[in-house]
Amino acid sequence: MPHLLSPERRWVCPNCTLTDVTVEVGQHSRFHACPGLKGLTAPMVPAGMSAKVEAVERQDFVANEIVTVDGDGTPVMSVTTTRDDGNDVAVYAPTATAGANV
Ligand SMILES: [Zn+2]
Repeated sequence: MPHLLSPERRWVCPNCTLTDVTVEVGQHSRFHACPGLKGLTAPMVPAGMSAKVEAVERQDFVANEIVTVDGDGTPVMSVTTTRDDGNDVAVYAPTATAGANV
């Protein structure tokens, strides 16, 4: 028996041509490796919503941290999604954080 009221969500990417559909209950987001952002893992936005997704490059010097880099080797700190009603920031935390025992 088909679920006529299945919570289908359509997603688009402002930076490439990828579209996707998820069927999930509740708040969730959809990430993909975006060719428009040099292969970074970027969030998709709900279809019909005007939003932009931008990579934020790290400004500080990268020493011994293992960081997320884009396809050009540029260290990327986060990806921000700017929507009509606010911002989302996905932060790529360095993995070499010592003593993070929370
Ligand atoms: Zn994309």
